[in-house]
Amino acid sequence: MKALEEKIKREGTVLPGHVLKVGSFLNQRVDTIFLAKMAKETKRLFKGIKITKVLTVEASGIAFATAVAMALKVPMVFAKKHPSANVSGEQYFSPVYSFTHKTTYDIAVSKEYISSDDCILITDDFLANGNAIKGLIDIVHQAGATVAGCCAEIEKGFQGGGDEIRKMGYKMESLAIVENMSDTEIEFRGEKK
Ligand code: 5GP
Repeated sequence: MKALEEKIKREGTVLPGHVLKVGSFLNQRVDTIFLAKMAKETKRLFKGIKITKVLTVEASGIAFATAVAMALKVPMVFAKKHPSANVSGEQYFSPVYSFTHKTTYDIAVSKEYISSDDCILITDDFLANGNAIKGLIDIVHQAGATVAGCCAEIEKGFQGGGDEIRKMGYKMESLAIVENMSDTEIEFRGEKK
């Protein structure tokens, strides 16, 4: 999505440890008009594919997943990262290594919110090594549901997670794929230098 690439170039900053900061429109302040455009583009990318729910992981995935689910007119479910007093009953769990916190934690979804007849679009804000999305795929499989596809707002292609998920046979779309990034330059997949 060209407009997203341009926005990342204008507003993104590269932090140590291969972290791209886009707090001005995506991770802290949310550009809601632009979010709706990203959701519309996601809907277009998955046109013709049956989707009954959108699934993401808290907290930073929630804004995009909600916008996509609103565009598709389906419910959104998010996995919780921490044991929570307001979760009751049986849950699906999957261990996920966190890129940002460098630790492994369980993500959890209540069994009552996903059923075996669901076709689920998995979304997230960022895709780096792919652990968050793979954990969500694991939960969809535990529920006996179908993965309709996966979509990240920003994929860091050089970290390999997106291509691994494609090799696993899933439809994996990203609205922007960063191929290289440094303090001075951000280059996107397919972009001529
Ligand atoms: P993965 O599991 O694919 O390695 O990492 C994806 C998760 O880590 C996302 O849910 C996102 O919250 C976080 N993340 C990974 N890389 C970045 C980054 O460069 N910037 C930001 N803001 N979050 C990131």
